[in-house]
Amino acid sequence: MKYSEKILNTPSSFIRNILKVTDAPDVISFAGGLPNPISFPIEDLQKSIHCAIEENGAKLFQYSTTEGYLPLRQYIADKYKKDYGLNFNPEDILITTGSQQALQLISQVLVNKGEGIVMEEPGYLGAIQAFTLAEPSFYSVQLKEDGLNVEQLENTLKHNQHIKFIYLVPNFHNPTGITYTKDNREAIYEVIKKYDVVLIEDDPYGELRWSGEKIPYIGAGRLENSVLLGSFSKIVTPGMRIGYMATKNKELMNHVNTAKQATDLHTNIFSQMIIHKYLVNNDLRSHIEKIVQLYKTQAETMLNAIAKYFPTYVNYTKPDGGMFIWVTLPEGTSSLDLFYKAMEEKVAFVPGDPFYTNKSNVNTFRLNYTNTSPEIIEEGIKRLGNILYSLSSE
Ligand code: PMP
Repeated sequence: MKYSEKILNTPSSFIRNILKVTDAPDVISFAGGLPNPISFPIEDLQKSIHCAIEENGAKLFQYSTTEGYLPLRQYIADKYKKDYGLNFNPEDILITTGSQQALQLISQVLVNKGEGIVMEEPGYLGAIQAFTLAEPSFYSVQLKEDGLNVEQLENTLKHNQHIKFIYLVPNFHNPTGITYTKDNREAIYEVIKKYDVVLIEDDPYGELRWSGEKIPYIGAGRLENSVLLGSFSKIVTPGMRIGYMATKNKELMNHVNTAKQATDLHTNIFSQMIIHKYLVNNDLRSHIEKIVQLYKTQAETMLNAIAKYFPTYVNYTKPDGGMFIWVTLPEGTSSLDLFYKAMEEKVAFVPGDPFYTNKSNVNTFRLNYTNTSPEIIEEGIKRLGNILYSLSSE
């Protein structure tokens, strides 16, 4: 059988593939970006299921609107107002099957084959995968400690007319864990406002902050072509698959709506109604605070263990929130080689390669700390440290 070029050119997710191996009970896995299941509010969700069925009956099981459940869209609009002073109405919100679906829909709507997408380097591999289906040209802009390389962004936009959108994860970035500073965001805004491009700010981790102050978004509320993506995956549960897109651009919203009609008619209404019941009947703030305390302890344990067990030539990020630490080995070291050695010692992480659109055999890798207990984190990092020392003495 002959398959389409676009599927043949789309990489299968390295993480999803290795999760099958790293899921083995004797493997210490820092690989997947899984929220800790002890943070799932199962009892409260159980009550919400009963309550939602009692109140809505057959509506939970019927087809529904493509835009999403109106009370949930209203809740999200109100939350943006409360948290960020942003003036969204329910019609500016589209409920999607995870924010992952929004990535796929937006790229289908905006990009013709060969047109440009600006990605962070390194960037979220699920976005690279979703966008690749639209057969774009990728333009990478480097990430630094304080955010995006603004000069490189400006040069990229100046010299490439066919760029359609810029995709950024400014809070507790996946895979690096970094957060763009306020100054960096301002500088990005000053550049982007001069160009006819869409800015997508993807923010599934923003509420998982344990250090520092919340920082305003780059484009929301002031750039005409601004899109925000959000998700309940990391603050309630990922399996319910409830994410959302927020934009004031009505034309863009209409086209994305059409693409969604064609894709899945609507997001699972059962999940939408349950999550809405959960949100209005519980104190989300205090629930998130518990998750934040959990992840803070895990992150600190991992950072302390890295300081203790890794050779000093290894560089790594120190996140203020979120789920990831990004490790950089000396130039010329392959993190993929390290990965195979680590798997022999039953420790897993994600080698950097799949986070780049055009590089391989890189010297970087991602560690996740949210789904492992502090004792196991210590043991896993110790094993990785031993391997790193043994490599440097080879
Ligand atoms: N964006 C980023 C940056 C992510 O890390 C993830 C999840 N790993 C997603 C989007 C997708 O999240 P979901 O579809 O569960 O909302």
